[in-house]
Amino acid sequence: MTGTSIIQKYKETQLAIKLISLGGRIQMLESETNLSRNKLIKLYKEIQGCPPPKGLLPFSTSWFMTWEPNIHASIFYNAYAFLVRNGLKSGIQTILKAYQLYLEQCQCSHKEEPVLGLTRAWILVKFVEKKVMQQSCCTECRGLFITHAYHPRNTFTCSLCQPPSRADKNNKTQKENDERCMKVLSRPSYLNSSTTRQITA
Ligand SMILES: [Zn+2]
Repeated sequence: MTGTSIIQKYKETQLAIKLISLGGRIQMLESETNLSRNKLIKLYKEIQGCPPPKGLLPFSTSWFMTWEPNIHASIFYNAYAFLVRNGLKSGIQTILKAYQLYLEQCQCSHKEEPVLGLTRAWILVKFVEKKVMQQSCCTECRGLFITHAYHPRNTFTCSLCQPPSRADKNNKTQKENDERCMKVLSRPSYLNSSTTRQITA
């Protein structure tokens, strides 16, 4: 029994280190591991070089519905749903894998903060599990996007097919980025079988 608990503690510490390195908040770590708050705070300080941010988690669905965050959240969730459909257990390990895929798809440079933080990605999965949010199919491009739950079928148009005017800038990088997002969203099969093997191995 003692042996198991040491291994379990070790695994949880490894998980906490990974989550903190990717920007996970203390509340999320407390929920996903059995490590004490004090230990988590110590780990956080050691890894991030500063105390963890105080305050509540961003428990609001409206952030996910704004234009750019919605695209990023949808890319992440498509990756997550893909992994679960391909046999990975829903939960934190798969959230981590999907988040890493999201970073590969979306982050232009490692210096830039990703639009979707790990804690928000984790909250999004909870929102979908609790049926607060869902994936809806865009009537124009057939991509799957995050919307509030119970959005009526065949009535949703995504923000790429119908961008708000302030996002309609003649910005090449933005445009290229949108095109890439589009590709990812309309063809979830971008994750081919060799990628799947790598991820699920
Ligand atoms: Zn669309």
